[in-house]
Amino acid sequence: MAVSAKMQRSLEATSWIRLMFETGAELQAKHGPGKVCDFSLGNPDVEPPAAFQAALEAVVHERVPHKHGYMPNAGYPEVRAAVAAHLSSEHGVKLSGADVVMSCGAGGGMNAALKALVDPGDEVVASVPYFMEYGSYVENHGGTLALAPARADFDLDVAAIEARIGPRTAAVIVNSPNNPTGRVYPERTIRDLGDTLRAASRRVGRTVYLVSDEPYRRIVYDGVTVPSVFAAYPHSIVVTSHSKDLSLPGERIGCVAVHPEAEDARTVVAGVVTATRMLGFVNAPALMQRVTARLQGLSVDPALYRTRRDRLYSALTGMGYTAVRPEGAFYLFVKAPGGDDLAFIRALQDELVLAVPGRGFGLPGYFRLAYCVEEAVIERSLEGFRRAIAKAPA
Ligand code: PLP
Repeated sequence: MAVSAKMQRSLEATSWIRLMFETGAELQAKHGPGKVCDFSLGNPDVEPPAAFQAALEAVVHERVPHKHGYMPNAGYPEVRAAVAAHLSSEHGVKLSGADVVMSCGAGGGMNAALKALVDPGDEVVASVPYFMEYGSYVENHGGTLALAPARADFDLDVAAIEARIGPRTAAVIVNSPNNPTGRVYPERTIRDLGDTLRAASRRVGRTVYLVSDEPYRRIVYDGVTVPSVFAAYPHSIVVTSHSKDLSLPGERIGCVAVHPEAEDARTVVAGVVTATRMLGFVNAPALMQRVTARLQGLSVDPALYRTRRDRLYSALTGMGYTAVRPEGAFYLFVKAPGGDDLAFIRALQDELVLAVPGRGFGLPGYFRLAYCVEEAVIERSLEGFRRAIAKAPA
């Protein structure tokens, strides 16, 4: 066998996603890229802010000794300090550079954080629907994902999370603004979660850490703000990146921040730093650390995504589709007409529209549209959406 049995199982588990991508590539080849409306990937189409290019050029021209050398695994001290200063103002909790570890995007940061927390046999709780990579991120460190259903409006069901917490629970993951639903969990939910985790930690006799995966924090609409987990629960770790807020997913830059009052905070930070080395990241990219340190607090204009959300949401609901209106991120999670998400995805493919079935996020019966695409793509897709729903079984 060419790959490990474990990898073989992973390949098989996601084979329908590969099939969809392959079908998409076939459709592009057959009909031309201008004909296919691809809503499958969360790859921002908005360019990074102009200040990014300026900062990049300034950093490239800087003459700094050992600019390309190894550095502390946690990142440059001055970058960690700059990130900590910004996160302190964003979260209302005083952080220092010692609480921050620079990471290779949110994905790298999640893996470093989970490696620091999870022992083989441990469980990590996540709310369904969830970002599909969490399963791999947890299994990478010998853990298993324990799934708790969300409420009907896709807010967290805190009681369902509580019910999944037991003596093997190392952590709970939350993701707000959420991929795939676009929900931003309200402050009362986060406060309730904090109180519940305090009680659950006492019940099971270990500190259950809260890991907040929030790369979409700055992409929110209509004045919505994202409540801080730090304010609600001290045993919290925030993981974020500039993949979405500065449109830099290819640059792999993000960070992990540990609440200074978390149980064993210093050891947790040391664990995240060591995990960064052990996982082979060694450190976050040097150049991007220097560039993004100058851009803390800056973000692409969320209004660009809001325009797309408004158009897509109102057009689809006007045709009879059902979806919760996204409050952030750039995803619309839509009920599949007829109930079968795979069948409906195929019907959309017949219309040259690409979407991801809900089962990829642990929730069959829905499909996800990533609306980080040009507005012209949305306009071109609408006739296909209209025909697909008209043909769906009642
Ligand atoms: N977490 C969520 C919820 C995401 O949607 C993504 C990317 O789409 C990531 C993490 C990974 O982000 P990054 O590219 O910064 O690793």
